[in-house]
Amino acid sequence: MSVTKRAYKLAQRCPRLAWYSERHRSPLDETIRWRIDVGNRIGEYARRRYPTGVLLPWRDGLEATKEAIADTSNSVLFEPSFQVGSLVTRADVLERVPGGWRLIEFKSGASVKPDYEQEAFFQAYVMGLCGIPIEDVCIGFVNTAYRWPGDVDYDHNELLQVESVWARKDKVMPKVDAGIRIAEAALASEEAPAKHLARKCFRPDDCEFLEKCHPEGTSGTIFHIPDLNWRAADKLVESGIVFSADLTDQSELNESTIRTLAAIRTGKPDYDPGLQVALDQVKFPALFLDFETVGSAFPLFAGTRPYEDIQFQWSGHMVDYAAQPESEWRHFEFLPEGAEDPREDFCQTILPLLREAATVVHYSPYEERQLGALNRAEIPGSQECLDLLKAKQWDLMVAIKDNVFHPDFKGKTSIKVTLPTLVEGFSYDGLNIKDGQAAQIGYLRMIDSQTPPEIAAQTREDLLAYCKLDTEAMVRIYQALCLAILPS
Ligand code: SF4
Repeated sequence: MSVTKRAYKLAQRCPRLAWYSERHRSPLDETIRWRIDVGNRIGEYARRRYPTGVLLPWRDGLEATKEAIADTSNSVLFEPSFQVGSLVTRADVLERVPGGWRLIEFKSGASVKPDYEQEAFFQAYVMGLCGIPIEDVCIGFVNTAYRWPGDVDYDHNELLQVESVWARKDKVMPKVDAGIRIAEAALASEEAPAKHLARKCFRPDDCEFLEKCHPEGTSGTIFHIPDLNWRAADKLVESGIVFSADLTDQSELNESTIRTLAAIRTGKPDYDPGLQVALDQVKFPALFLDFETVGSAFPLFAGTRPYEDIQFQWSGHMVDYAAQPESEWRHFEFLPEGAEDPREDFCQTILPLLREAATVVHYSPYEERQLGALNRAEIPGSQECLDLLKAKQWDLMVAIKDNVFHPDFKGKTSIKVTLPTLVEGFSYDGLNIKDGQAAQIGYLRMIDSQTPPEIAAQTREDLLAYCKLDTEAMVRIYQALCLAILPS
């Protein structure tokens, strides 16, 4: 079985994950397909930087690469392929330089990251074994300082920037060498490599094979304790403690962790008296508010930069008194119909609600940050929006984090977790758009002129339903917390 760049990367996280992934390819979800599309577009702009470059075919790529390298009139090769033993790789750009070649790996991120270095040096390693003298390794990435003037194609020299990481060769290459051995051993194995319940199963996200590896479930593990930092978790695992029930020495834990552990043991949530104080700070009418934003590698509107946040949608539920029934809530929303810059209308439509509300309830400091960004971009109305929000804001997530120690939060306080935990019968499960990442992709699809109108219209409906549930969820959680602390 071949050790590709992908398999190598997966094996760094967990050899068993690489083994499974090679045998059980999951269908690509929308987020992954979107990332691939972005990567392909980055590749197209990267190639424009080298007008004399020769694009090599994927089919019979090894042979074509050999011939292209032998032809000294070729100064730049795109997508050259290499194979040695079980190791296979294909580079983005290979540029002939005095004494050998410069390898350039283009990425859609906004800076050089350790992962990118590892991938680039993996390629350099394979090429070195193929007898290609590598004299430099560079990472190309998106330049967030580039301000797109609009009405013209992106300037490929400005959109992307290239940085050499060659000086890191002696640090990274030994890791790549060790990593390749791990990946080769994992993939060559007849049996799946050993499983361990460890941090890697949950970070950077829940492993897709979690249920396959741990069918007994993972609830009650130390990885679901909030505020337990990962270094401390690693130490506990090394000493044989994986389940929080085995954590008898609590001397180094903070109070909220100890209370969460107690809640996990008893199976009952613990509400701090401070919750009452926090909930009492909400004055009515209260506006429960949520924003959606998008950050695209390719600037969307004139005067914006790559990955600059564009605030395209908001939802607000105005509630006139704490126990007000759902039938009396007033719902407001904003999402543009067309592909124009939405930011001024975003501010102007929300202003009357911010003026009316006595308290503005949000979930995390995200809304304040976004209004700050609108203000820095000098969007009309944003200054007043920001001033009003700062004067009236109340953070529901902070109230939960500080005062609710729930056995089922599993170390998370995102609204996707707290809604179904605190409000029975409600979750994001039935929606077509279920999270912020999907909302970003949905918005980009909706404003794309290539999208068929019926799909754009459906996507708009999905976006409205998603953002509406975010603010409905906040009201329901707020009311559930009020009920939870009522004296019985
Ligand atoms: S669940 Fe854990 S042990 Fe299993 S493949 Fe994933 S990371 Fe590896």
